[in-house]
This record gives sequence, C-alpha cells and structure tokens, in this order.
Amino acid sequence: MSAPAIQPPADLIDKLVSLCKQRGFVFPSSEIYGGIGALYDFGPLGVRLRANIRKAWWKSMVEERDDIEPIETSIIMNSRVWEASGHVSGFSDPLCDCTGTCRRRWREDNLPGERRARGKPADASGCPECGGVLTAPRQFNLMFKTFIGPVEDSASQVYLRPETAQGIFVNFSNVLNATRRRLPFGIAQNGRSFRNEISPGNFVFRLREFEQMEMEFFCEPGTDLDWHTYWCDARLRWYVESLGVRESQLRLRVHDQKELSHYSTATSDIEYLYPFGWGELEGVADRTDFDLGVHAQHSGRDLSYFDTAGNRRFIPYVIEPAVGVDRIFITLLVDAYDEDVVRDEKRVVMHLHPDLAPVQVAVLPLSKKAILCEPARRIERDLRRHFATEYDETQSIGKRYRRQDEIGTPLAITFDFDSLEDNAVTIRERDAMTQVRVPVANLQTALADQLDDCRKRAAARASG
Ligand code: ATP
Repeated sequence: MSAPAIQPPADLIDKLVSLCKQRGFVFPSSEIYGGIGALYDFGPLGVRLRANIRKAWWKSMVEERDDIEPIETSIIMNSRVWEASGHVSGFSDPLCDCTGTCRRRWREDNLPGERRARGKPADASGCPECGGVLTAPRQFNLMFKTFIGPVEDSASQVYLRPETAQGIFVNFSNVLNATRRRLPFGIAQNGRSFRNEISPGNFVFRLREFEQMEMEFFCEPGTDLDWHTYWCDARLRWYVESLGVRESQLRLRVHDQKELSHYSTATSDIEYLYPFGWGELEGVADRTDFDLGVHAQHSGRDLSYFDTAGNRRFIPYVIEPAVGVDRIFITLLVDAYDEDVVRDEKRVVMHLHPDLAPVQVAVLPLSKKAILCEPARRIERDLRRHFATEYDETQSIGKRYRRQDEIGTPLAITFDFDSLEDNAVTIRERDAMTQVRVPVANLQTALADQLDDCRKRAAARASG
C-alpha cells in the first residue's frame, strides 16, 4: 500500500510557469506579439526533458518488446479518414458562453470541475467565473481545418489530425503484410496532434497543439478484456518504475457505462493528482473492432485478419494506451517540485529521475579564473559522450548549485584550487547535498555509480 495522495498547493502551477520560463523549459508561443492561446514553445531544457520522455516511452513500448512495430504517419490525411472514424460528425465538445460580465467560453461537461476549482459548489448554476447566465450548449467540432493545393474550396479542405491513432488504423494491412506479424501485436506512433480545445489551460495540461504517444495493440476478439487489464497495469507501473512518479499521486479510474465512448467496452484513465485536482494523464481504451471496421466499410478494403490456427477470418480488436508528451511533462514537474530550507534560505529542488533530468552532470569551476575553467571545461568535454552534461562558470558557486537544483540536475562536479594539486574533484548530490571527493581518473565510473544510486533513490521515492 502506498501513502495517501497529497493535494499539491494551488499556486504550484504559477510557480512552475515562472520557473519554466526563467530556466528555459517553456515559453509562451509568439510571446513578443502577445502570445496565442494554449500554444507553447519549448526552450533548451524543455526540449531535453521532452526528448527523455519520448525516449523512455519508445524504449518500453518498442525497443524492449518483440511484439510492437513503430510507424510514423502524416499529420494531414485524406479527409475521408476523419469521415469514416466519426471525427467529422462527432469529435465535438458541448460549448456554452457566459452572457454575464466575464464572457468566457466553457465546455459544458467541465463546468462542475471548473466551479470546484474556484471554490464553488459543483452543482451551482451559471458561469463558474462570474456567476453570469450561460447559453444553452451547442456542439463545437475540435478539428482544425486547412486547405490542400491552391484552391480553397470544400473539395480541398483537410484537417490537422486530432489524434495519431487513425494513421495507425489505416496502415494496419500495410504493417501486417510488410512484417508478416501474427496476432497479438501492436503498432506505436509518436507525433503532433491538434485540437481546437474550447477551454484549454492549466499550463501545458490542455494544449491546442500537442504531442501524443499512442500504441494500438491488435488482438483476437474475446482476449481484449484481458489485454486491457494487462495494459492498464503495465502502463501504471511504467510511471512509477521508469519515470519515478510517486505511486500515491496516481490512480486508475474505470469509466462507467455512461462515460464510455460508443465504440468502447472498457476504458480506464491513469489519473494524477494535479494542483487543480485529479486529471487524466493517460487513457487505456478497448476500442473493439470499431476503427478497423469503419475503415474497411468506408474504403472498401479488406482489413480483416486470417487466423491460420483457427482457420477463420475476423477484424481484430484493439487496446489503445494513449498519452501526451506534454501531459507527462507537466506531471513530472508537479511531482518533482519541492521546496526546502538550506542555511536559512529557501531552496527549490526538482527531484527528477536521473534518466529524465535535462542535465545529469553539471561541471562547475569554483571561480571564473582561467586556471580552474580550462581543466573544468576539459573534464566536461570528456564526460559529454557518456552523460548529459552542462558547463557553467557564471555567478557564485552557491547560485550555480541553486540553479542546478531547480532544473533537477542530480550531480554537480566542482573543480577547485585543490583540484590543481590532488587531481580530484567534488561530486555533490542534489537531494541530500552530500559531497564526495573523487580522483579525476575515476570520475566516469564514480558518476555512473552515483547515478545508479540516484535511480534507486528515485524508485524509493516513487513507491513511497
Ligand atoms: P479530454 O476528454 O480530456 O478532452 P480525451 O480523453 O479525449 O481528452 P484522448 O483522446 O484519450 O483524450 O487523448 C489521449 C491522451 O492525449 C490524453 O490522455 C492526454 O495525455 C493527451 N491529450 C489529449 N488532449 C490533449 C490536449 N489538448 N493537450 C495535451 N494533451 C492532450
């Protein structure tokens, strides 16, 4: 049993927004022109963290498995894909407008949560913000439209994909034929998706342009519910064991009959307790044979599978674990953020897993003197091939440690005046701030060992 969940403070998102901007994780998109709603750019550290998130997902979903193939499909596809999948007619949210003072737009199904987030009863009437009267809900399609070719007419209208999954379904036969796979097997894809969300927000939690990592696992009808259980369990464990997310802050929420999509027989959300309450981190859905079925019907192509052992043909069922890179990004920041007091001063520290931290080893000469900087630079250059490193000679050593703590760097090396004599450096560990002196000749091994210790500490923190 893990510890009970702890509600993160409501102001944590604001703190993260400012830390992310100051340290170079996330910038508002087009900021010099006043920004644009729910679109963000990722700075030098944000790019590294996202690359590590993708790498971890890819490793567990593709590289470490012998039953999953990768694919990369185009963002813009033939519009008939979205007609067949039901997105043109049904990928919409109920939208209502406030007619009171704030004039905000709301997703009707989110009104109770929005009220709760503002300290009001979930079933209060009117606008969550100002209490004004709300219009009756109307359906709003979330797909972004554009045109292909020089003529802007309805025949040339296309959509930016709102999910990566459909690119997988329409390639099912291609992958099956090319790889000669037998069921069960999966196809995984990572790429950008676009949704014209009505009420985006909470920083990068709900964006209009985001990045998904989806895997469609094709299996025999009748085995799907077992596979659904398998994937719920595997995905939940991945957050704790591979990403170091605290187990106590995660839960699996099963959709009840009312909430289930029309094509799904079972869906569960892996939820995390954010400063704004429990929210979906990842969805694991049993999509039945719906998608392959409708594409077979609309395209006229045979998307069935021939089971040689059972001598029968059928449309496979599909289990889909789907998550956003940006969702994991915000989850990691919320989960890792901590404040403590060091020598009477507040210290902000990110307890990021050492395999996810944008910088694993910082190399810091004690002062800006060339006599220290030059050998420290050489050390950093040597280590670069083995670890994600950063060299920093600006500001006082105390300030540089603080910066590294804030960005989640697990280890910092200091090259001081004694290093010139004893050919050794100090390795400082982020969480306990312990320091050990290590000969430069043994540095690479010592760092690898210390990172292993950091992994163990991350595992202990995650499992509570
Ligand atoms: P919601 O009902 O909250 O709008 P959804 O359940 O339709 O979302 P899915 O279609 O299941 O979301 O998307 C799979 C995953 O993609 C989500 O679990 C989430 O991690 C991510 N995701 C979906 N929409 C967004 C978004 N607007 N911004 C960032 N990530 C998103």
